[in-house]
Amino acid sequence: MLPLLPPSTSDRLARGPQSPAFGISGESTSVPRRTPPRRAAALLLVWALLWLLAPASTTHADERLKTRNVLWITLDGLRWQELFGGADESLLNRESGGVRDVAALRREFWRDTPEARRTALLPFVWSELVPRGQLFGDATRNSVSRVTNGLNFSYPGYSELLCGFVDPRIDSNDKKNNPNVTVLEWLHAKPAFQQRVVAFTSWDVFPFIINSQRSGIPVNAGWQPAPPEGANAADHLRWELGEALPRLWDGVRYDALTCAELHQHLDTHRPRVIYLSLGETDDFAHDGRYDLYLHAARKNDRLIARLWNRLQSLPEYAGCTSLVLTTDHGRGDDRVAWKSHGKDLPLSQFHFIGVVGPDTPALGIREGLNVTQSQIAATVARLLGEDYRAAVPQAAEPLPGVLP
Ligand SMILES: [Zn+2]
Repeated sequence: MLPLLPPSTSDRLARGPQSPAFGISGESTSVPRRTPPRRAAALLLVWALLWLLAPASTTHADERLKTRNVLWITLDGLRWQELFGGADESLLNRESGGVRDVAALRREFWRDTPEARRTALLPFVWSELVPRGQLFGDATRNSVSRVTNGLNFSYPGYSELLCGFVDPRIDSNDKKNNPNVTVLEWLHAKPAFQQRVVAFTSWDVFPFIINSQRSGIPVNAGWQPAPPEGANAADHLRWELGEALPRLWDGVRYDALTCAELHQHLDTHRPRVIYLSLGETDDFAHDGRYDLYLHAARKNDRLIARLWNRLQSLPEYAGCTSLVLTTDHGRGDDRVAWKSHGKDLPLSQFHFIGVVGPDTPALGIREGLNVTQSQIAATVARLLGEDYRAAVPQAAEPLPGVLP
């Protein structure tokens, strides 16, 4: 996530601001307990209750759509090359890929065809998402998905992704509050989404990208402080695990811990928009470790599968949740440049976008298209029945063919 500065000169040690308290009140509506003296009063009470309860249900702006919730996931800096082609043979070695055990890595990820390689690397994506949904960005099929901010690194990418447009003022990874309103904040301001938009992120800059202070969206990001007095055993265990593991990056928590925080939240809450940002793929690539980069990709595929399967087991999400999977930027395309990305590596503008859900036709790999990162924000809103571009005209239009 920090391609331009070595860790020693970055602000990785700085801590994020206090996010809004993460305990979100449920959407239960209190019911006055009293017995009306007359039938007319009873009818009036029933009418009033129906009126009161209506906004608390999952009201929907477009009744033709089944989607009521969106799970929006990013895998930081995962290349489209691995997504579509699996392990890259030119990097399965010590010289270019920093691989410690080449034979073991080849056994895990090398197969004779790109189809078999990508399934070995990302089984959920290729057995669930693509057969039932759509995937953009296979440059080998004359189809590209591009970042349009021209900088090809994290904060500008996430801002383009979440806002739907490029702001040239967003030109660093510094912990500065985003002056722009993201589609998350735009949704959160609507009664149907109040207190039902959440973000769980491995990187600790997200409270600024989402502007948690202004938006009021809770952002659980980076390494967490010790739980307060009175926290339960599970809270203590998650924190102890984070403290016990070797800390490779001060600004990026391990993705399994980020997912554990989200699962804990789902024990007691039912958010309608879940933004989950996983980060290990980018950092292991910057570290020049192709073996750990591939392992991070496969582990994240499993974390996503587990999360998706849990949502499908819950009545609030089963059959009415769409998944959007993408990344903030690509990476370079040779034996050295694969480690990095940025303005000086124009090939790192190319990335990928996947969508699966009850409203998305199962078209699989989309061919012959040129789409952009900036189209995702309006697509997410549209899946939820909302017209983002009517309110934010500078946002790019939704992705073609994702909705009927
Ligand atoms: Zn990044």
